Amino acid sequence: MTRIENARLLKLLYQYRAMGYEYFKEYKPVGNKQNNTMLPKEFDLLRSSVESCHLCNLSKTRKNVVFGEGNKNARLMFVGEAPGASEDESGKVFVGRAGTLLTNIIEKVLNLRREDVYIANIVKCRPQGNRVPNMEEVSACKPYLMQQIGMINPEIIVALGSTSFHHLTGEYDTHISKVRGEVLELGNAKLIPTFHPNFLLRNPSSKQEVFQDMLKVKSLL
Ligand code: URA
Ligand code: SF4
Repeated sequence: MTRIENARLLKLLYQYRAMGYEYFKEYKPVGNKQNNTMLPKEFDLLRSSVESCHLCNLSKTRKNVVFGEGNKNARLMFVGEAPGASEDESGKVFVGRAGTLLTNIIEKVLNLRREDVYIANIVKCRPQGNRVPNMEEVSACKPYLMQQIGMINPEIIVALGSTSFHHLTGEYDTHISKVRGEVLELGNAKLIPTFHPNFLLRNPSSKQEVFQDMLKVKSLL
C-alpha cells in the first residue's frame, strides 16, 4: 500500500470511528500469521502512518508521537506503557529517568547495547499527567504495536509493568507481581513480564527481582 493509500485508509477508519463503528473489536496478540491488519508492513511507512495518527484523543495533547526504536531484527523487545513528558518532548522512547534505568538494565545486566534490542510502548502518544491509557486508547493504538512485533518477530518480549502485561496478554485480572519472571507465550515469542522501571524508581528494593528476571531473559537468548 502506498503512503497516500494508507493515509486515506486511516482517514476512513477515523471517520467510521466517529460514526460509532468499532473496527478493532478484538486484537489477537500474536505474530505474523494472525496479524491481518491493513497497516504497512514496512517500518518507515508504518512510522509515517503512526506519526500522522489521530485515532484517539491522545493525539490532541501530544507534542510528538513516540513510535519506538531499535534493531528491526532484534531477538529481544521491551514493551512499556506510554510516553512520559521527556518522550513526548523528544519523540524518543524511554529517554527520561525510567529510560536511563532501562538502558542500564540492558547494558549492565543483559550486556547488550540499547541499539541491539527494540523498545516500544502500548500507546504511542502521552496521556496527560502520565495517567494509565484507557481501553479506548489502547484498542486504537495496539494494532501498531502488534504490527511492529509481527515485523520484528522477536524471540523474547519483556512486558514492562502491568499495563503492558495486561494488554499484551488480555489477562486483566492477574497482578504483575504474580507473574513476573514467568516465561509465557505470545504468538511466536516468549513473553516475560517484569516490573516497570518507574516502579523501580519508587521501589528500589524490587530491582533485585527485576535482576533475577533479566538473568532468565539472558539465559534464554
Ligand atoms: N515509560 C514508558 O512506559 N514508556 C516510555 O517510553 C517512558 C516511560
Ligand atoms: Fe494514534 Fe496511538 Fe497516538 Fe492514539 S495514541 S493518536 S492511536 S498513535
